[in-house]
Amino acid sequence: MSEPRRELIDVARRMAPARLNQGAAGNLSARARENGEDGYLITPSGMDYDTLTPEDIVFMRFDGTPEGRRKPSSEWRFHQDVYVERPEAGAVLHAHAPFATSLACLRRDLPPFHYMIARFGGDTIRCAEYATFGTQALSRNALAALRERCACLLANHGLLVFGRTPGRAFALAVEFEALCEQYWRACQLGPPALLPPEEMRIVLAKFAAYGQQDPAA
Ligand code: 13P
Ligand code: ZN
Repeated sequence: MSEPRRELIDVARRMAPARLNQGAAGNLSARARENGEDGYLITPSGMDYDTLTPEDIVFMRFDGTPEGRRKPSSEWRFHQDVYVERPEAGAVLHAHAPFATSLACLRRDLPPFHYMIARFGGDTIRCAEYATFGTQALSRNALAALRERCACLLANHGLLVFGRTPGRAFALAVEFEALCEQYWRACQLGPPALLPPEEMRIVLAKFAAYGQQDPAA
């Protein structure tokens, strides 16, 4: 059984202890090539990650047809559309992390209250418009919110991030949830001071030359 399937399960199992997820909420995928076909591996729908074996991971082709003994995550549409529209995406993670989800219920973009907002590609992290879970409409709204970004909130739902690898997507999700918690806490004491657009332009330029020079990396 392929190494990428084991890696996907290992990272998926880190989501609950990192407080990104509860129960069977959330899902994780990684771009993959199996039996000469391009597609992606994705967690099965509604299964406890602790019980997963590599055979439970579903291989999806880009035409939306699954291969395997399990039903794919109900959110395969936005995972697939991220891979199709964003060539830099190697892994996609969706979670109902508590602070991100609380803010997503306010349906507001995360403003530049901290310079690390720029880590995700812009001077805000957008909140996608609401649509029912598992629908093409949700995928369309998420892809619009991800424009020039590698993360967004999903209204009344949770968070979505992508990175080069499952481990990178996980690390970005942890950073994103930490920012949501910081914003939430700051708001308890009053409206946070926001960094002006000129400063965010400077920070974005610094991030373009920092680390791996790609917000998804
Ligand atoms: P799945 O178990 O089908 O991946 O769904 C979980 C979820 O978070 C739906 O939005
Ligand atoms: Zn969800």
